[in-house]
Formats: sequence, structure tokens, C-alpha cells
Amino acid sequence: MNKNRVYEENVREIVGRPGEMRERERSFDAPESFGEALATVPAGERIDLEVRLESVHEGILVSAEARTTMHAECGRCLTRFTEPFRVDFQELFAYTPTEADEYGVHGDHVNLEPPLRDAVVLALPFQPVCRPDCPGLDPETGDLRDAEAAAESIVVDPRWAALAGLLDEGNGAVSEAAEVARTAAETKDVDRASDPESK
Ligand SMILES: [Zn+2]
Repeated sequence: MNKNRVYEENVREIVGRPGEMRERERSFDAPESFGEALATVPAGERIDLEVRLESVHEGILVSAEARTTMHAECGRCLTRFTEPFRVDFQELFAYTPTEADEYGVHGDHVNLEPPLRDAVVLALPFQPVCRPDCPGLDPETGDLRDAEAAAESIVVDPRWAALAGLLDEGNGAVSEAAEVARTAAETKDVDRASDPESK
């Protein structure tokens, strides 16, 4: 069976009917992995997808949100960890794509795999860390450093700098704040990716 089959959305009911909209939710196991660096979403990982399909004059506008689990190796201490991972994207699937990189409506369906793959790969952290204040390994002994000794030498990613203040306010806010920071970073990436000017 075609591996992309799980990513296909049937749009027959709304093709050529601007203003019509459908919303769907479903879950499936990723047929193939996403990403090939320290952080990936491996094949077989569950993906929960929420999709909104809107019929517009030019084609089908797709807004989607995917929730899954990222598997990563900490870039500082080399510990393997998993973390909830969320990404969204919006793409127009045109009836008559005019450029090579434009997505098209194929018959009665759209294939969400390429834009989902782009969004996930862009949003996966290039240098994942198991926790924002991971002290990393001692370059001499190879052991995990104690946090105080390491604090001076860690270069804080600007995205995490904003979280440092929140960390002081209590650990309860950490995971939520991390989620917000990650979402903000993702949104930026996705916006850039879908900006026609940048293509
Ligand atoms: Zn670590």
C-alpha cells in the first residue's frame, strides 16, 4: 500500500464549492520517520492530526495541527529522551498549481504528507536539550557536570532565556512555558516556510 495513503484527505464533497468547509480528526502511526538529526519523530510513532479543509476559489486551503512525540538525544549530556511535540501548518492546494513548489489537488484528494513533513522537520530542534538547564558533560571526565559549575559556561539559547525567569517562579509553569516557547518558535518557522516571498 502507498505509504502516503494515511496522509490523504478526501475533498470530493467540497471541490469547486467555495465557502464549504470540513473539519476532521484522526490518528495514525507514522509510516516513515521525520528528521534525521538528533531529534526525530520515528516511524511507528502515533500522530494525532486535526485538519480543517476550506474550499476557496483557487483550491483547497488546509490548516492542520499535528501532535506526536519527539525522540531526541540531548546535545549536551547525550541522554536520550522523548517529549510531546506539536506543529501546525497552513497550505493552499491549488486546482492548477502554477509553480513547481505549489501543492495541488489530485483528483478528489489532497496529500498532507509533504507540507506536514516540511513543518515537522523545520520545527524539530537542531540542538535538543533534555531540560533547559542541562549542565552537560564535563569535557575532561565525561561525567555529568554539576549544575553550578556548568551554569557559567552554558550559552543560553535566546528562546530559553525568556524561560529562565519563569523557572524561578516555580517549576509548575515550566512545561507550559516550554510549550509556549516552542509553539512560538514553530509558528515563526512555519510562517517563514509558507511565505510565498521567500520561495
Ligand atoms: Zn541533557
